[in-house]
Amino acid sequence: MSDAALRDLVDALGPDAVVTRPESIEAYRRDWTADASAGMPLAVVRPTTAAEVQATMRWASANGIPVVPRGAGSGLSGGSLAVEGGITISMDRMRSIVIDTETRTAVVEPGAFNAEVKAAAAAEGLWYPPDPSSYEICSIGGNIATNAGGLCCVKYGVTTDYVLGLDVVLADGTLITLGGKRIKDVAGLSLLKLFVGSEGTLGIVTRAILRLIPRQEPAATLVATFADVRSAAHAVVAIGGKLRPSMLELMDHASINAVEDHRSMGLDRDAGALLIAQSDAAGGVSSAEVQTMETMCLEAGSTECFTTDDPDEGEMFAEARRAAFPAIERRGSLLLEDVGVPVPLLPDLLTGIEEIAARHAVEIPVVAHAGDGNTHPIIVHDAGDPDAVVRANEAFHEVMALAISLGGTITGEHGVGRLKKAALPDQLGPDVMALTRRIKDALDPAGILNPGAIL
Ligand SMILES: Cc1cc2nc3c(=O)[nH]c(=O)nc-3n(C[C@H](O)[C@H](O)[C@H](O)COP(=O)(O)OP(=O)(O)OC[C@H]3O[C@@H](n4cnc5c(N)ncnc54)[C@H](O)[C@@H]3O)c2cc1C
Repeated sequence: MSDAALRDLVDALGPDAVVTRPESIEAYRRDWTADASAGMPLAVVRPTTAAEVQATMRWASANGIPVVPRGAGSGLSGGSLAVEGGITISMDRMRSIVIDTETRTAVVEPGAFNAEVKAAAAAEGLWYPPDPSSYEICSIGGNIATNAGGLCCVKYGVTTDYVLGLDVVLADGTLITLGGKRIKDVAGLSLLKLFVGSEGTLGIVTRAILRLIPRQEPAATLVATFADVRSAAHAVVAIGGKLRPSMLELMDHASINAVEDHRSMGLDRDAGALLIAQSDAAGGVSSAEVQTMETMCLEAGSTECFTTDDPDEGEMFAEARRAAFPAIERRGSLLLEDVGVPVPLLPDLLTGIEEIAARHAVEIPVVAHAGDGNTHPIIVHDAGDPDAVVRANEAFHEVMALAISLGGTITGEHGVGRLKKAALPDQLGPDVMALTRRIKDALDPAGILNPGAIL
């Protein structure tokens, strides 16, 4: 591409919006997968309006330049890794939030952080439920593009359940508006949902209308320890068959100890597994539900249970769970899994992961949004040891194959990105892959939007 073409873009958007200094570009090249294979983009575009996003896409389309949409770069599947010779379009300067208490909606620009939307809603007595563990460091645009889940999704659902409307800029620069502030709307094909979870491959989200609900009741909390993950998983299955907890998270022995090594939070280092369960049922019912969950945990073999009605104390345990990724990251290089299965098969998935870890002599700590059957086995290895890298990669692919063999998925919430796309055909099969390709080709015939992600 000629310098003149890049100058056209700078002329159209102004120098503030187009970053070309390599030192400044560096901060926008990778996500949390820290993949060394990230390319060097020509420029990072930092628009402040949807019109600037449109101008960028018209320019990219005319010049055949790949464009990688980027939120806050907290992704765990390589979805926003920069492409060599492309443009990374970062939404970090588009972050307005307007709360409409009448319709209980938030009109949000994509760069706003999840935590900022929650705070703005809370100031009006409202709540935006989707709560990825990364809520303080991830953007709403990234959440929508990955259909992010989180800790309370076991009761309240995932991002898509709260997206009522979207403005999206297509590959050719067309701006479309889908949905609105209405709760129900079945006019036409469900195109709104097509863009949720599309990982920046079909369009760039420039505005979202999000559904808010009344503030959550303070939760009561149960922490139950088990001798092994299998009995903890059986407790999860039993609880899910009877109640709808507002949180049901699992940590295994290795992840408990990684958190304790990183920052002591009083977790039982000897436990084989830990369940953190909460109930936010109204009218004092939360305590009764937590008691019921305690009984079920004891029946499934829990060695010790602790309960509290104090929301701050409960939050400390949720915080320990959220600390797991950064804590495990200190143990070595990571390959992050996100596999899920139907909840009754959770014990088989967790046992199978232990077998894979033993067979390949790798450490695989597991944390899980257990109530959803969604696990995060994290393969820790020494990236400087070629043999360890081979064993880690074999384990990575075997974990995905195991999930598929149990009727599960290779990704429950992080997305396919660049990390898992080789395994996608194994889950979807040739017909669904071909349909996916036809949809991509219809919306982005030149293939300039996030090339290399998903497909
Ligand atoms: C410590 C930690 C804990 C995490 N816990 C969770 C968890 O509990 N649940 C969960 O779901 N995820 C979790 N994640 C993963 C990550 O935070 C989510 O995937 C998040 O949604 C990514 O948002 P982001 O703004 O960082 O997006 P990025 O990483 O910048 O991008 C992610 C994808 O979205 C696309 N994208 C971004 N913005 C737009 C836009 N405006 N339009 C179109 N496409 C766009 C990108 O192209 C890319 O494909 C965790 C990550 C970390 C580091």
